[in-house]
Amino acid sequence: MDVSVPENVMVTKLDSLASWCRKNSLWPMPFATACCGIELMATGASKHDVARFGAEVFRFSPRQCDLMIVAGRVVMKMLPVLQRIWLQMPEPKWCISMGACASTGGVFDTYSVVQGIDRFIPVDMYVPGCPPRPEQLIQAIIDLQDKIQREGTLMGKEFQTEARQRPKRALLDIVTPQSAPRPEPLPIIPNVGV
Ligand code: SF4
Repeated sequence: MDVSVPENVMVTKLDSLASWCRKNSLWPMPFATACCGIELMATGASKHDVARFGAEVFRFSPRQCDLMIVAGRVVMKMLPVLQRIWLQMPEPKWCISMGACASTGGVFDTYSVVQGIDRFIPVDMYVPGCPPRPEQLIQAIIDLQDKIQREGTLMGKEFQTEARQRPKRALLDIVTPQSAPRPEPLPIIPNVGV
């Protein structure tokens, strides 16, 4: 039987096509809390132009995003917010930890600062530096694109079935402000004026 493929026709797997589309149209959710956030902004500006990699549509609604970029230190009080935003992002989704503080707590080795966000949400790429340069973040995005293409992102019903079967990417239990024993409120210091 003669099976001829007409010109201008490409044959591929649906999953490869979906992954190719997804990796080239990442929508980042910026979680910028400190100085690393400035470099994150520089990455989106004209000189570095992250739009070249299809990831320029920064959104502040987690439901429209598939790439969380945590840039800066995260304090314990902020952690429930970070986790809630992560959970609000639809699958498939990815996370980049940008800078020493987000990945390890950096120089802030203290009880109130999270010593690495990967203890609480899953991280796909780590960007070293204090702060990392925009080129490093872009390299992380390129590496992430490779990972997305390599691992694939199943589509539609297939994805839903697969997502139901695989073990949940667990969030670590944390003591939320609601469950923690509440300290006695501090006394209100009267404003004596100047
Ligand atoms: S890693 Fe350095 S630049 Fe980034 S938030 Fe921490 S102190 Fe700031």
